[in-house]
This record gives sequence, structure tokens and C-alpha cells, in this order.
Amino acid sequence: MDFALTEEQKILQDMAKSFAENEIKPHVEEDEKNQHWRKEIFDKMAELGFFGFCIDEKYGGNGMGFLEGVLVIEQIAKVHTSWRMAFNMQCWGPSLTIQKFGTEEQKQHYIPKFVSGEYIGSFAMTETDVGSDVAGMKCLAEDKGDYYLLNGNKMWITNGTVSNHGLLYVKTNKDAGAKGITCFIMDYSLPGITRKKLHEKVGLLASDTAEITFEDVKVPKKLVLGTVNQGFQMCMTQLNATRLGCSAGALGLSGAILEASVKYANERSQFGQPIGKYQLIQQQIAEMKMGHEALSYLVYKAAWLKDKGLPNVMETSMSKLYGAKEVVHAANECMKLFGSFGYSEEYPCGRFLRDSKQFETLEGTSNMHTMIVANAALGFAPNRA
Ligand SMILES: Cc1cc2nc3c(=O)[nH]c(=O)nc-3n(C[C@H](O)[C@H](O)[C@H](O)COP(=O)(O)OP(=O)(O)OC[C@H]3O[C@@H](n4cnc5c(N)ncnc54)[C@H](O)[C@@H]3O)c2cc1C
Repeated sequence: MDFALTEEQKILQDMAKSFAENEIKPHVEEDEKNQHWRKEIFDKMAELGFFGFCIDEKYGGNGMGFLEGVLVIEQIAKVHTSWRMAFNMQCWGPSLTIQKFGTEEQKQHYIPKFVSGEYIGSFAMTETDVGSDVAGMKCLAEDKGDYYLLNGNKMWITNGTVSNHGLLYVKTNKDAGAKGITCFIMDYSLPGITRKKLHEKVGLLASDTAEITFEDVKVPKKLVLGTVNQGFQMCMTQLNATRLGCSAGALGLSGAILEASVKYANERSQFGQPIGKYQLIQQQIAEMKMGHEALSYLVYKAAWLKDKGLPNVMETSMSKLYGAKEVVHAANECMKLFGSFGYSEEYPCGRFLRDSKQFETLEGTSNMHTMIVANAALGFAPNRA
């Protein structure tokens, strides 16, 4: 693998950095405080073509792949981690999955609208009683001839109250486990849907998260993505893409933590010299630096493998699992390094710690990723593209 970025990739990275600094940074504090998902930021991201990574140009894609997408997500997450979610909700969730599994008509209708931001996307698997055990989901769509009758609940859904169209995974055969799941390209304007924003979150405060309830919702059959009862495979394929978005988010946040810690260690003096001169502080900084660097290799390598179409499920899980460990550790050390100021909202250490914890749970918990990595390493499961 060539570790040097091309000139085009560096320009893209700089562009994403400027965008994050100029358009997102000024709103971070206010949006965290008000738990506000800011539509203007979303619209500007769409305008810049940020929702077109890995999407065929004939559907509005930007002609760039996973590695370029990762570079952009990293810069955005570095400034405000909540906004890393938008990439998964638009391009690596709905658009890419429709591009892989949809009919030509579905591709032409939906993908350009997710890319342009006209459709605000989402994907929903998790339920109140079902998380890691995706095949155990209970939300049920019964075949009624002309339509499906949908009843049940989805929980913790990102963009849950703002999404107008998104992927919805439900059971169409309640006794068939993984083989009874179908993916719908859900239209959230259909009658019978109730959406409740969840305000009691620990972090990701500027990202919209909701519980969605379906009560006798009549879902037109044309909203089935691809083939009925093939949803589990679609879900696993989708997660292998969106997990990389998560890893790139962890990389961005770990970069923000490192930068803030280095600055503070140079500025803060005790016993007559900057605290960065003390070996114990240097150990914290060295660990953060190594962790960040190691994570970048894992994330870029996983993206590169994806772009080449090579097996990458294990590498994607390694980047996700290591990313969670690294960023939670770094955020914890950062708060210690800042002393009492770390415990004050005057500095971002609290947000860093709150936002770091998401990476241990979303898109598969750390236990799940440990199992994926171990099973591939032990040869119990093949490493797939
Ligand atoms: C802010 C936020 C946004 C989210 N966005 C979305 C979204 O957009 N769409 C969506 O569908 N979901 C979303 N989720 C849900 C998230 O993906 C799930 O919470 C996650 O998959 C874990 O499920 P769970 O919380 O039910 O935990 P559980 O599956 O109940 O797990 C609880 C604990 O048990 C462990 N565990 C479970 N099974 C095993 C096992 N076999 N072996 C060892 N340990 C095990 C887990 O690792 C975990 O530590 C979001 C969650 C949050 C917090």
C-alpha cells in the first residue's frame, strides 16, 4: 500500500478541513447545548458533494471512493463528531445499499435524491428489545396482497425524526430468523408512524436520535429493496460499509483529542514549567500519538481494501474495534491532563469523552467486533470483501 496521499486527496482533505472549521465549528457549543441537528450544515455538505462517495456518477456520485470519504469524515468528526453520522445516513447506508441491491428504477429514483440531500436518510435495524441479535428482530410486515401491514418499533435510530426516506429492516416471515428479514426503502410520510426524539443521550448531542413506532402502516410493495427475505444479507453488507464511517469518525475525534492535549500541555505551567515537560504527561501524549497514528493506518488500510474490492470485513472490524479502544482511552487521558479545567464545560474534554463512548456500541458493539476479528483470524469464518 502506498501511504502517500495524492495531490487531489490532499486538496479534498484541506477543503473538508476548511468547511468544518468555517461552517461547523461556530455552531458546536450552541448545537450541543440545544441538541440541535442543523439543516443548513446538512445542506452545505450535500452541495459540496459529500454524500456521493462510492456512488456511480450516473446516479450523482462524486467519482471518489472509500479512502476519499474517510479523509473527509475524519476532518468533519475532528471538529464535531455528531456530524460524522451524516455520511452513513446518506451515502454508505441507503445509497450504497440501493446501488448494490436495488432495481434500476429504484437506483434512478432514490440515489440522486440521497446524494443531493433532497432525501434525508436513515437506516433502522435496532429495536427496544433487539440490538446485537439482528436476526431476532420482531417488527413485522405482513403480506396483505397489495401491500404490507407493518407493526412494531425501532429504537435509537439516527436521523429518526428528520429522515424522510431510509432503509428499514423488518421481519416478513417471523419464523425464519435471518432468512425472514426484508429491507424496505421506507417513506416516513406514510400514516401510522410515530417518531419520538431521544433527548436523554450521553453524547452525540447534535445528532438526531429517535424511537419510531409503526402502527398498522400500509407499506406499498414497490418499497421493497431488491428481493423479499434477503434483508439480512443487505444489512450485513451495509454495516460493513457504514462501520468504516464509524472508524473514520473515531480517527477524527482522536485527532482532536491529541491536538487539544498537546496544546494544553505546552500552555499550562506548574512548578515553574509547562506540564508537557514532565515525563508522566509525556507518556500520556506519546500514547495518544501512537494510538492515533496506529488507528489511521487501520482505517486507511480498510478503506483502501474496500476500494480495491479485496476482502476487508476483518480489517473493517479491526479499525472499528481499535478505534473505540483508542478514542475512549485518549478521551479519558485528555480529561486527566487538563486537571479541573478538563472537568469544566469551558474546554471540550467532556464532549470528547461523551462522544468517544458511542464507538463502543454503534454499528456493532466492541464484543461483536472482537468476535468478527477472532473468527476471521482463527479461520472459523472467511474474510469477505
Ligand atoms: C446514538 C446512537 C445512535 C444509533 N443509531 C442507530 C441507527 O441509526 N440505526 C440502528 O439500527 N441502530 C442504531 N443504534 C443502535 C446500536 O446500533 C445498538 O445499540 C447496538 O447494535 C447494540 O445493541 P443494544 O444496545 O441492544 O445492545 P445489546 O445487543 O443488548 O448488548 C448489550 C451488551 O451485551 C453484549 N452482547 C450481546 N450479545 C453478545 C454475545 N453474543 N456475546 C458477547 N457479548 C454480547 C454487547 O456487546 C453489549 O455489551 C444507535 C445507538 C445509539 C446509542
